Amino acid sequence: MPSAFPSAVLGSGRPVTLRGAGHSCDGQTVTDSELLVTYAPDAAVRQVRDLDDGLIEVPAGMSWYGLERYLNRSGRAAPVLPNYLHMSVGGTLSVGGAGIDSVRSGMQVDHVERIQLIDGTGISRWCSRTDHPELFRFALGGLGTVGLIERAVLRTVPICQDTHMHRADHATLAELVEHAEQIAQRDDVDIYSASMRRGRLSSIVGRRGNGLRRCGEENCMIVSDPIRGRISHLRDVAAQFSDRVRLWTDYIVPVEQFAPMVATVETLLHRAPLNGVDPMLYILIVRRALDAPSFAFAPVRTAPVSIVVGLYTWGDRDPDVISATRHIFRDLLERCCELGGRPYLYGVTDLDTPLAERLYGTDLDRLAQLRSEHRLEHVNAHLPLVRAATRT
Ligand SMILES: Cc1cc2nc3c(=O)[nH]c(=O)nc-3n(C[C@H](O)[C@H](O)[C@H](O)COP(=O)(O)OP(=O)(O)OC[C@H]3O[C@@H](n4cnc5c(N)ncnc54)[C@H](O)[C@@H]3O)c2cc1C
Repeated sequence: MPSAFPSAVLGSGRPVTLRGAGHSCDGQTVTDSELLVTYAPDAAVRQVRDLDDGLIEVPAGMSWYGLERYLNRSGRAAPVLPNYLHMSVGGTLSVGGAGIDSVRSGMQVDHVERIQLIDGTGISRWCSRTDHPELFRFALGGLGTVGLIERAVLRTVPICQDTHMHRADHATLAELVEHAEQIAQRDDVDIYSASMRRGRLSSIVGRRGNGLRRCGEENCMIVSDPIRGRISHLRDVAAQFSDRVRLWTDYIVPVEQFAPMVATVETLLHRAPLNGVDPMLYILIVRRALDAPSFAFAPVRTAPVSIVVGLYTWGDRDPDVISATRHIFRDLLERCCELGGRPYLYGVTDLDTPLAERLYGTDLDRLAQLRSEHRLEHVNAHLPLVRAATRT
């Protein structure tokens, strides 16, 4: 149930865990103490404010589905949508937000104009690239470690009714990698994703526009529903295994390091228990503007083009299987770090202080200072990122 007065809950000083829709995968929003839930998709639409210049102000508890429906009615759209829309705006901005549009438009956090952030005393302040820029840089992609995002002002784009897509199959992972590297160099692609599912390797490449027609090439399709044209089948996969433990992990590496990262994944797919299940791989290309902010903990660094490598498995609740899977993920995390990449912190990430220092450098110490300055010691204190920063 959504919390009515977030500033009072935060200002009380009682231990509290922030939660949007609770779709992160590693206990980020699980707690024995108080839970502050923002997700309120039905009520949120009444609190949306249309601003000038294509900007829109939304409550953090709105779902992407509700927001996109709202925007589409007035001919607008979010520049980047995740492939599953029933997640909160605040929760996704607190991790980063990528999708098939990222090949053109980067991360969702790149399209945030400003956020209203509540600190540990209950005080709220608007933060942007120019007002409280450090809090802005730490809050977006920061897992709620520097306060609660209450509202966000987002940039929108004119809607494109049609998506023209081509699906391609690939015989090997090496072939998929080569294809993705070629796509990453092109500037005429609006959507891209690739996956390995039940042994099938495929990718989708597309353009957006209005009044688009089939080109006659094989595997060509036009999707004229703006929402359906912007999400992928991953949501169906998620629903299919809702009774299992979701062990998902994603790494983002500079495009030049994509091939070695996938080679490591391919090797580890042969190790138990992954060799006995049917894990899914999911690949996205992320191209960011040259002036995109350098967020402290978001998964992308400043490389103009990066690749998301997601590995998703659904296990029985067997502790040995979970532990062996986490070992494999830890090896992948090490490799990602060696290759100059970062983990996507919504997923399973065994982060200890030495590794966090390698990944985040001086921002880790600065996080501890900001939490102290803004009296946030009782907020999301259980997160490995906070424990690494505060050496607890
Ligand atoms: C089926 C499925 C598909 C997905 N697809 C994508 C995808 O395409 N692209 C992508 O980028 N990600 C994807 N994800 C990952 C998703 O973006 C994250 O799990 C995200 O956190 C979900 O939002 P949420 O509202 O559930 O956040 P939660 O899990 O509730 O919270 C995530 C983190 O943010 C903090 N937090 C939550 N709300 C706030 C707030 N208002 N202010 C400050 N901190 C807050 C929480 O404490 C927690 O640490 C997917 C996940 C699932 C389960």
